[in-house]
This record gives sequence, C-alpha cells and structure tokens, in this order.
Amino acid sequence: MKRIEHIGIAVKDLEAANKTYKAILGAAHYKTETVESEGVSTSFFKIGESKIELLAATNPESPISKFIEKRGEGIHHIAFYVDDIKAEIDRLKKEGFRLLNEQPKPGADNKIVAFMHPKDANGVLVELCQESPSPALHKGKGA
Ligand code: ZN
Repeated sequence: MKRIEHIGIAVKDLEAANKTYKAILGAAHYKTETVESEGVSTSFFKIGESKIELLAATNPESPISKFIEKRGEGIHHIAFYVDDIKAEIDRLKKEGFRLLNEQPKPGADNKIVAFMHPKDANGVLVELCQESPSPALHKGKGA
C-alpha cells in the first residue's frame, strides 16, 4: 500500500459538517458526490496529499446510518491508496484476511474500492482504493 488516501468520517448532517471542517481545515470541500448504491452522500476536502471524506447516510438502511446508530459520529474508515487493487485483494486473501468485497467496486471520487473486514484489522474498516481505470463507470454519479 502506498499512502493514506483519505480518512472517512461518518456524520449526521453533511451540510453542517462541511461548515465545521471548512473551519477546521481552512478550506472548503472541493466536491460532493452521492453513491446511491452505497446509500451515502460524501464530500471531499484536500489537505496536501491526503483527503478527508465526510459520509452521510441517504437512507435509514445505509451502512452509515447503522454505524452512527451503533457508534455515533466519528472516524468510519481509513483508505489506503494502491496501484493494483486486484493484486492487493489477492495478497490480503492469501494472508488470511477477509474482504467485504472480493471484486473492486466503483466508489466515490473516481475510485474503485474494496473494504477489508474490520474484525481482521483491530476494529478498523480498511478501504483499498485505486484510481478508476474506466472513468465512464462513474458517469452521472457526480452531485
Ligand atoms: Zn472512503
């Protein structure tokens, strides 16, 4: 894995959190995006090489709703950038880790992503992400 690409933070109110993080980071978010298949609305902030992804639920069945119900708002996942997500998935599986996605799927911010099982990573939800090789996949998803 190359570097921390972003840290995902689960929030109840995306607009309110956008204001809070603008005040903290000193810069506004540069994009918002809804990934309907995941039940999330996201906004992204850039700080140097790293990003902060705020995640709010779009419906009560969203994994973000469930996360906030259980644990409250807070850090939801850490995303590591990888050059070859399929190779990383295979490598982790060989090491005995469970993945929530055995195939990469389209994520926000023009990425393909896969998540590891948090129980295999000391309670941390780890996201692998790679620049999407086919941006057409994401057409129409921007918000
Ligand atoms: Zn993420």
